[in-house]
Amino acid sequence: MEKCPVCGGRGFVPASFYESSEQEWHTYSAATVPCRSCFGRGYIIVCNCPMYVVPKTTDDKT
Ligand SMILES: [Zn+2]
Repeated sequence: MEKCPVCGGRGFVPASFYESSEQEWHTYSAATVPCRSCFGRGYIIVCNCPMYVVPKTTDDKT
């Protein structure tokens, strides 16, 4: 698990975080909503499954 980069591990973000793209963090001390990236947990699960490993496809065999 890693700390959620969206909410900084707090598990919540300002209520206007997802609603307004201009007034960023203006309502920092106002209402908050659970972070959607980590679902309010404050951390995210990083999967190291092999299926997520993207094979190198660059054609550098010139
Ligand atoms: Zn989060």
